[in-house]
Amino acid sequence: MPDLWIEVDLDAVIHNFKQVISLLRPGAELMAVVKADAYGLGAVEVARALQEEGCSHFAVTTVDEALILRRQGITAKILVLGPSNQEDWPDVIEKDIELTVSQVESIYTLNQIASGIGKTAVIHLKLETGMGRTGFMPDKLVSLANSLKECAFIEVAGAYTHFARGAQRDHSYTRGQHEKFIFCVSELERLGVTIPAKHVCNSAAFLDFPEYHYDFVRAGTLLGGHYPSPSFEGKLDLKDPWTVKARIIHLQKVPKGTYAGYQSLYKSKKATTLAVVPVGYADGFGIEPKLIPQGIIDLLKIIVKNIAALFGFQLGREKILLKGRPVSIAGKVGMQLTVFDVGEVECECGEEVVLPIRRTFANPRIIRLYKKNGLVFRKRIIQEGFLSINTEYSQ
Ligand SMILES: *Cc1c(COP(=O)(O)O)cnc(C)c1O
Repeated sequence: MPDLWIEVDLDAVIHNFKQVISLLRPGAELMAVVKADAYGLGAVEVARALQEEGCSHFAVTTVDEALILRRQGITAKILVLGPSNQEDWPDVIEKDIELTVSQVESIYTLNQIASGIGKTAVIHLKLETGMGRTGFMPDKLVSLANSLKECAFIEVAGAYTHFARGAQRDHSYTRGQHEKFIFCVSELERLGVTIPAKHVCNSAAFLDFPEYHYDFVRAGTLLGGHYPSPSFEGKLDLKDPWTVKARIIHLQKVPKGTYAGYQSLYKSKKATTLAVVPVGYADGFGIEPKLIPQGIIDLLKIIVKNIAALFGFQLGREKILLKGRPVSIAGKVGMQLTVFDVGEVECECGEEVVLPIRRTFANPRIIRLYKKNGLVFRKRIIQEGFLSINTEYSQ
């Protein structure tokens, strides 16, 4: 048995998928976003599980991610949301992967490649409405429409845009983006472009704007059991599929005044028990995204936190769960070993603990156990491009 592992409950992902489906407007379908290795859960495993449940459309950021899903048995439609390189386009066309296009020149190049192969390239048009990333600006619509008329090997499957502030309580910016989107789509239609499908919603907009569901909703966050922001909590019954576990590998009773860890930042205030757990920065534990204040209150919190840290008090630090009880880190997180003050909690060496590690930060080499229908699959750790793939049965 490993000393550190991650359990991913695919039944929980399927449960979340069904929750999302239940709120879709009639006529709308879910495009399951499984980018960034399904937000760390494992794109191959998540997509396989959802495909079995009838999910017919997936979305990822890169061509690489899409090709890996195809190789690993995903036969459903796959849309690449990000920009792509033309060297990859022959493969994309051969493997029936849908591309996002944001530039007129791309249409001509893609058409040339597709006609060379003798197979139509399927694209979604990305329209820029306020995200400021990629997409056709409104002044490009005429040349876009003209290019599409000239390109017989291009099939437009849809048009979409992406909301920058979907999770914000103030809806005005999102409504403005939506208006621009609808304007651009009707312009394109007026110019003779047929748009079979429209899609604008991410997880946040899916919950807040049912009237914007259109043909597809592109949701990822909700499938992983998270809400786009705390204000959405309770809108669905979501299950968390992600648990990181480790075993205590060293346990020591210590007297009052014992130092622990680098820089001796911890000193026991009374006799206690210190536990060593084989987890640290190298695994993604104790790493926090850079704190950027989202307002004045937030700024104050960050300042207070930093001042407290200067005096040796770590506020709001991760706690681990030992027998269901929260236990604090003693001192600094190490590279692969971290000490915890287990205090009064009775335990033995080898006892399991539950740890917080962000999904997208968790090192891919940590063993993953996938649970589905009472079976456990163990992922062999093989890196292929950005994703770790291959699952096999274990007992
Ligand atoms: C990531 C992404 C989504 C999904 O967003 P969630 O908030 O995770 O549901 C949808 N559309 C685009 C273009 C994205 O990049």
